[in-house]
Amino acid sequence: MRVYDSLVDLMGNTPLVRLHKVTAGVPAQVVAKVEYFNPGGSVKDRIAARMIEAAEASGELRPGGVIVEPTSGNTGVGLAIVAQQKGYRCLFVVPDKVAQDKISVLRAYGAEVVVCPTAVSPDHPDSYYSVSDRLAREVPNAWKPNQYTNVNNPDSHYHSTGPEIWEQTDGRITHFVAGIGTGGTISGTGRYLKEVSDGRVKIIGADPEGSVYSGGSGRPYLVEGVGEDIWPATYDTKICDEVIAVTDKESFTMTRRLAREEGLLVGGSCGMAVVAALRVAATAGPDDMVVVLLPDGGRGYLSKIFNDDWMADYGFLRTSSDEGVVGDVL
Ligand code: PMP
Repeated sequence: MRVYDSLVDLMGNTPLVRLHKVTAGVPAQVVAKVEYFNPGGSVKDRIAARMIEAAEASGELRPGGVIVEPTSGNTGVGLAIVAQQKGYRCLFVVPDKVAQDKISVLRAYGAEVVVCPTAVSPDHPDSYYSVSDRLAREVPNAWKPNQYTNVNNPDSHYHSTGPEIWEQTDGRITHFVAGIGTGGTISGTGRYLKEVSDGRVKIIGADPEGSVYSGGSGRPYLVEGVGEDIWPATYDTKICDEVIAVTDKESFTMTRRLAREEGLLVGGSCGMAVVAALRVAATAGPDDMVVVLLPDGGRGYLSKIFNDDWMADYGFLRTSSDEGVVGDVL
């Protein structure tokens, strides 16, 4: 019988799919690692599983434990699924700017969500940082994963994403491209691929223009889940051979093309990573294989990236009425 005991057993082992249309005219092959095949719909299932397993092993998380984390997105979903399967409570703290839909998703999985005001400074007692710190201190049996400092975040990719890509490509990968948020994906996967290939595989970060990783000051951008205004401990500052800055407009235009031309309904950070991957592939040789990681699916972005009015409001589309005629502006 081919029956899985738990959804947690289905995390990882995501497929590689070759891109065909958006790569027109590019000499190297570009293949996508499609992380929306994870049960929670994103790459973050990997870190959730490993962070929880490591905390169980170290005794930080015990039966009856409560997972407390300031998160509104993919990490919360991954943690909520693993916690529910293993019988832990989840208490997530989010700022009130977070879309109601995202809060509903977390609550649907059984997590408790505390909503805090956005319009206060980080050191204010009501800020979501302060509230999550206080809850982690005061709630009995609380454990805070802290994905920005937890070594199991990059380690999960060193032990899963990296080896999977190496095996799936029979060691033929020449370049790995991924967006940088906490830096866990690129640092862990990159470290494995460099080690196993004796430094042959090139590691390329994709970053929203304005973020610190590509030399910016943290200036705001709209693409979600990537870029920072601080340098988290989970990012290995020596791992990237190159970091490519991508604008919001380029990211979102490519995200829409991936749905229309490749059948891949994915999030904005995926479009961003593909823009960087195509730049790399344009200067690579015909025998090269560029692997680009696509972190999540596009359903969470229907009212933004896939909404013509929203795109037009930000000047990313020439018109909101008939994109089919006027087309995307690159
Ligand atoms: N894209 C999305 C949508 C994400 O949620 C994240 C995680 N913050 C990333 C990209 C970046 O991954 P990492 O944190 O491993 O750098």
